[in-house]
Amino acid sequence: MDLFVVTLVVSVAWAIVALVYLLAQIIFKIRFVYPDSVPEKDDVIIRTLADFQYFHNLSSEAKIRFVKRVRFLAMDREFEGKEGLEVTDEMRVWICASIVQITFGFRKYDVAGFQKILIYPDIFYQPQIGKMVKGYASRDGIAFSWKDFQEGYLDHKDNLNLGLHEMAHALHFVAFRKSGKSSEFADQFTDWIAASRADYLVLKSGEDQYLRKYGGTNVHEFFAVCVEHFFETPEEFKIEKPELFQYTSFLLNQDPTRTQQDYHPDENSPAWRKLIKKVGGNPYRVQNDWDDRMIFVGLTCLIPMSMITEEYVLNYLDKLIIVLVLALLGLAILPWMKKIGRYSYALIYALFCLFGIGVTSFTLLLTLNEILPAKEYSEIYPIKEVRYNNHNNSKYLIPEGDKYLRHIHILEYRSPIEPNPEKLEIYFRKGFLRIPKRIGMRVIYGKPKPEDVQTTNY
Ligand SMILES: [Zn+2]
Repeated sequence: MDLFVVTLVVSVAWAIVALVYLLAQIIFKIRFVYPDSVPEKDDVIIRTLADFQYFHNLSSEAKIRFVKRVRFLAMDREFEGKEGLEVTDEMRVWICASIVQITFGFRKYDVAGFQKILIYPDIFYQPQIGKMVKGYASRDGIAFSWKDFQEGYLDHKDNLNLGLHEMAHALHFVAFRKSGKSSEFADQFTDWIAASRADYLVLKSGEDQYLRKYGGTNVHEFFAVCVEHFFETPEEFKIEKPELFQYTSFLLNQDPTRTQQDYHPDENSPAWRKLIKKVGGNPYRVQNDWDDRMIFVGLTCLIPMSMITEEYVLNYLDKLIIVLVLALLGLAILPWMKKIGRYSYALIYALFCLFGIGVTSFTLLLTLNEILPAKEYSEIYPIKEVRYNNHNNSKYLIPEGDKYLRHIHILEYRSPIEPNPEKLEIYFRKGFLRIPKRIGMRVIYGKPKPEDVQTTNY
């Protein structure tokens, strides 16, 4: 089958799917990622979260988002009860809710680093540290004493929350692994450490009146302790350490004092604007999905691109090379993309370059080439071969020389006793792209030579 036809069929099929998806999103506000509601499962989650203060304050729309995230994590993460403990739905929901709480401001909450979750009934011996602990986080996962996890949420104003503490450690690991899906966080985290340095040193020297002393142990504990205070006593935090609060709020893209706004940070506040300006945009929101959309546009552009290039003197390899060269533009903006924290995945970036930048810019160039004035000229080619198609009484004229010229197809050829087609005059148009485009042709006939006719059946 002709490669062109295959491309066209695939493109049209794709465009239809994309269009239906887009329309459905607009009209029905449907997102075909995974179902927004799984009643039996969500009921359990909602009932379990009745006492979860953070969840309690959310609007019903944000509650749906929260439940969806909890459900996803509860299914995705690996839970293991230790020392004979049986893992219950309640444990799964609470622990996942704790992850969702700390990552609620992230677009991609499915952060790596929380993969395996071990639950102990009470404090347990940690051989690497060599003592009894309430919990720990490592690169592979997190471990909790369930008793202490529960206590952390029981009193939600004492700045002690084991769950959030360990989640903070896990996020810290994600930041330094740099391969987690939440790369926006990873980039911001380095900034946070630098910005909070002064506060850390004050705490370390024992002169801090607000943050728990344990945070002075090292940077890891400092972050974990900040996170506990951030969620447990945010109002006080904001007054005691306004700058550190802002940095943490910016890092996690949420503000726990804004209980009426689903913890959405006040993006119009001068402090927030200052941070945005420094970073060059909200790493979690401003870039939005424009890059994904560009891939979408690029894929949709395949159809017009195929249509426009149909008459161009280009074969598929040429087109691919042009798109690849344009896709290399992506390398030029890579440092900037890294700066705004996108594309930790090489594959996604490659897709973005190829289908986003490559196809879209080629289509734009082709469109400009069509619109702008161009030089027109004609060339005469001798006909090398004539192929007859007996099924529909048509013939193909194959001109000599240019391998790029498609077989020229002339319909309605009724009898072999016809003037002998000798030459083809082909009219071209050459725009600023300097690629000739076939815009018409004329057959130049010689004397009839029916005995020369070769017949080929298709
Ligand atoms: Zn710790």
